[in-house]
Amino acid sequence: MRDDGGVRAGILVTGTEVLSGYVTDRNGPWISERLAELGVEVAHIMVVGDRPEDLAGALRYMRDQGVDLVVTSGGLGPTADDLTAEVVGRFAGREMVLDTEMEGKIAAIIERFARRLRFDPESVRESNRKQAMVPEGATPIDPAGTAPGLVVPAHGQVVIVLPGPPRELQEMWPRALAAPPAQELLARASPYRTLSIRMFGIPESELARSLREIAEDGVALERLEITTCLRGGELVADVRHREGAEDAAEALRSGLERRLGQFTYTESGESIEEVVFWLLGDRTIAVAESCTGGLLAGRLTLRPGSSKWFAGGLVAYSNDAKAEMLGVDPALIDSRGAVSPEVAEAMADGALERFGADVACAVTGIAGPEGGTEEKPVGYVCFCAKTAAGEKLARDPVIPGSRADVRDRSVVVALHLVRYLLEGREPPR
Ligand code: ATP
Ligand code: MG
Repeated sequence: MRDDGGVRAGILVTGTEVLSGYVTDRNGPWISERLAELGVEVAHIMVVGDRPEDLAGALRYMRDQGVDLVVTSGGLGPTADDLTAEVVGRFAGREMVLDTEMEGKIAAIIERFARRLRFDPESVRESNRKQAMVPEGATPIDPAGTAPGLVVPAHGQVVIVLPGPPRELQEMWPRALAAPPAQELLARASPYRTLSIRMFGIPESELARSLREIAEDGVALERLEITTCLRGGELVADVRHREGAEDAAEALRSGLERRLGQFTYTESGESIEEVVFWLLGDRTIAVAESCTGGLLAGRLTLRPGSSKWFAGGLVAYSNDAKAEMLGVDPALIDSRGAVSPEVAEAMADGALERFGADVACAVTGIAGPEGGTEEKPVGYVCFCAKTAAGEKLARDPVIPGSRADVRDRSVVVALHLVRYLLEGREPPR
């Protein structure tokens, strides 16, 4: 336990397929976010293979680090390499006992499977008896698939044991939290207050300078946990604090607003597409894309309910497609080039007209690594955001980085250009 009485946690992701990089870990980050929401401080995420000694070693390490809560994922299946329950049981000094009620539940689930898949129910049931073996005194968690989870008190610590498949783990998570040992622990956690300030169009060094100035003004920044990170051309400052540090958080917020407010697009962590949707109100948006190859449309359809705002998008990669699908004048493409502010505007006009949208955004550029010229280097991208009423914002920056960077950044630039258009102001500088 920490000095301030908070709860510290470690996450133990098991599975050789995750360790080897074959499967990307989706459980560690997910659990980490859920724990943070509960005010639990996550100290470690560890990944270990399916070897019992490594699993036990990781549990011992976390205990030595004074972690109050460990959440494990994976290794609860019926096969011999699924060992987590047993290893955790031994770690907690608890005998494995057959939970007959759980055995009945698993049998019922298995029989449904077996009938559908025409397995011999008896042999399947035998191998799944293993899954009904639980450490004595642990709280079993009803399975989402066939593997039950566990909440195991372990010498003052609590270990929550969950299966590997993310869908099963997520479904069982609330049930695990409801178990009495978990409840007792969580009662000690005090949720963080968080601010997530997102900016666009300034380098990280400017944010660092502002933070230094705010500290020099006497704001007690040490009472706040500030993480800054550059994500896809956006600068995010996450500010977490416990109850009682509200004044410091507010002083930081207003200090940043005074210095960098013109670059800030949210203080509550919404993504740029959410802000764009909010600004659209009951208007619709369409896109015309070349070098981003549909990534902009993808981003605008990420959230459920996007259809209220997103009319549609066209990926017009070839000159012919730009002419035929978006009505761009081939003579314009010949005279100005497919990557030009003029063609970007004609693409936006085409999208407005073809989709009958209120707002459109077009992107055409040179993602590279080939195809650059002196006049139009790799990373040169033309953007045009336009309303049906004819208001327009256009930019043609040279975006640094690899092909993937140029494409990803272009999506972010396009969304911010639309935001500025909808806000009725020019981007700063
Ligand atoms: P099962 O009964 O399915 O074997 P299990 O609890 O034993 O459940 P694992 O064997 O560890 O789980 O993992 C089963 C599958 O779930 C893996 O092959 C993988 O596809 C997926 N999985 C496991 N852990 C993770 C993870 N951390 N992130 C993403 N997927 C995972
Ligand atoms: Mg398994």
